[in-house]
Amino acid sequence: MSRALVLNATYEPLCVVPTRRALLLVLQAKAEPLAATGRVFHSARVSVPEPSVVRLSYFVRVPHQAHVALSRRAIFARDGHRCQYCGAQAENIDHIVPRSKGGPHAWDNVVAACRRCNARKRDHMLEETGMKLRHQPSAPRGRQWALAALGAVLPDWEPYLGLPATVVQLNMAEEGAAALSA
Ligand SMILES: [Zn+2]
Repeated sequence: MSRALVLNATYEPLCVVPTRRALLLVLQAKAEPLAATGRVFHSARVSVPEPSVVRLSYFVRVPHQAHVALSRRAIFARDGHRCQYCGAQAENIDHIVPRSKGGPHAWDNVVAACRRCNARKRDHMLEETGMKLRHQPSAPRGRQWALAALGAVLPDWEPYLGLPATVVQLNMAEEGAAALSA
């Protein structure tokens, strides 16, 4: 499905909606188009370039969240769907310090892992296995929020995702969408 990035009136990324929804916002003068997909939407009365980025003409207040919510989808997105031990396609989530040994379910203690590495590590501490992490995991910040929250970013969106202080929670996209339909 084709999607569009919605920016707040302040240019801060707010949420991602189906292109059709973004088109409606533009047609209703609730948003201005900033980038287009290259396709054109035709109806009986109008022909409008399909937007890929729109900016709202009004301000939507969204509760500030300091962190990106931890979820399976967000962890896979952060780690590029690659096992953080061997680089193979990841299928599982591994707790670096096992939960059975008090390891927290937190951004810096979880990584995407392939089935083989996950099985090999089991309930061991990393030092006991001889396995090594390719990167020290941390919570996604700034531009990374979009990757974590959305799974994939269109090239058109990138200029708008590098804004400072844009650290959002996964839920924010949903809250933003809810605020839009209010
Ligand atoms: Zn692996």
